[in-house]
Amino acid sequence: MKAAVVRKNCDGYFDVKDVTLRDLKPGEALVKIEYCGLCHTDLHVAAGDFGKVPGRITGHEGIGRVVKVGPNVTSLKIGDRVSVAWFFSGCGHCEYCITGNESLCRHVENAGYTGDGAMAEYCIVKANYAVKVPENLDPIKATSVTCAGVTTYKAINTSQIRPGQWLVIYGAGGLGNLGVQWAKNVFKAHVIAVDISDEKLQAVKEAGADMVINSAKVDPAKEIQDKIGGAQAAVVTATAAICYDQALASVRAAGKVVAISLPKGNIDVPIAKTVLDGIEIVSSLVGTRQDLAEAFELTAEGAINPIVHTRKLSEINDIVDEMKNGKIVGRMVVDFTNGAN
Ligand SMILES: [Zn+2]
Ligand SMILES: [Zn+2]
Repeated sequence: MKAAVVRKNCDGYFDVKDVTLRDLKPGEALVKIEYCGLCHTDLHVAAGDFGKVPGRITGHEGIGRVVKVGPNVTSLKIGDRVSVAWFFSGCGHCEYCITGNESLCRHVENAGYTGDGAMAEYCIVKANYAVKVPENLDPIKATSVTCAGVTTYKAINTSQIRPGQWLVIYGAGGLGNLGVQWAKNVFKAHVIAVDISDEKLQAVKEAGADMVINSAKVDPAKEIQDKIGGAQAAVVTATAAICYDQALASVRAAGKVVAISLPKGNIDVPIAKTVLDGIEIVSSLVGTRQDLAEAFELTAEGAINPIVHTRKLSEINDIVDEMKNGKIVGRMVVDFTNGAN
């Protein structure tokens, strides 16, 4: 089969190669991939930023159908449509796995990084970890739910925002745009989006944001405190560390700041103010199988509408360049439904 693999020299690009998959072990299933999105995380893996994994099949935004099951598989059957996500599997029995924090398992496997991923005609999954995709959900849009969709859904859940309360989302890119849609359509919050791009802010306004602030022009925290007395929660999707300072300053007492981006560097937390105002800083990492199942179900019902474009596997390095140049609006998804071409 054809697959996109991390190059030997880990130069940030992929080789499209013929790869032969091993036989299925007990508990595994073979998935014929229909679509797989390419993510910035894949680019980091290809460049060796998390450690070098030459030859690894990339891809953690995969959707496909089960075509074969190994021994002892009871949770999947042939024909089921399933997903291949960054959270590929946990150990299943540690304190994190059994308390609803399986993405923090110390023996976690990540698709396209510690294990072969879904940017290929076929992918071997652990049956109990491959979350099913509802039949009434567009599989192309579903690719985005496996990553950005579930990450933002989980983050807003973690913020514990309640209907009618104010939530600020820092960063109006791919994650922020989906965050606005979840916050409005599922959590029924009032939403403020902050970014430095008027174009992205316009897009989130169309997605339903009640207020948008260009932080290159005004101090967002001051604006938010002046206008609404501070938000009940903030979710930071932007990678500029300053957004965390701004997020801390934009919440009201008992507010919560949820971190999902990975900025370089640190922030200065005003500890006394944080204590006196009862502000919490928490983080959220992708989502569990249950979070993903919920995100799929809600997306099938129309909660969010990810922007996706289909491409060919042979174009994968063009997509890498387009992503590096920041040229892409929405997600590029490789189409395997006519084979790998
Ligand atoms: Zn991703
Ligand atoms: Zn575990």
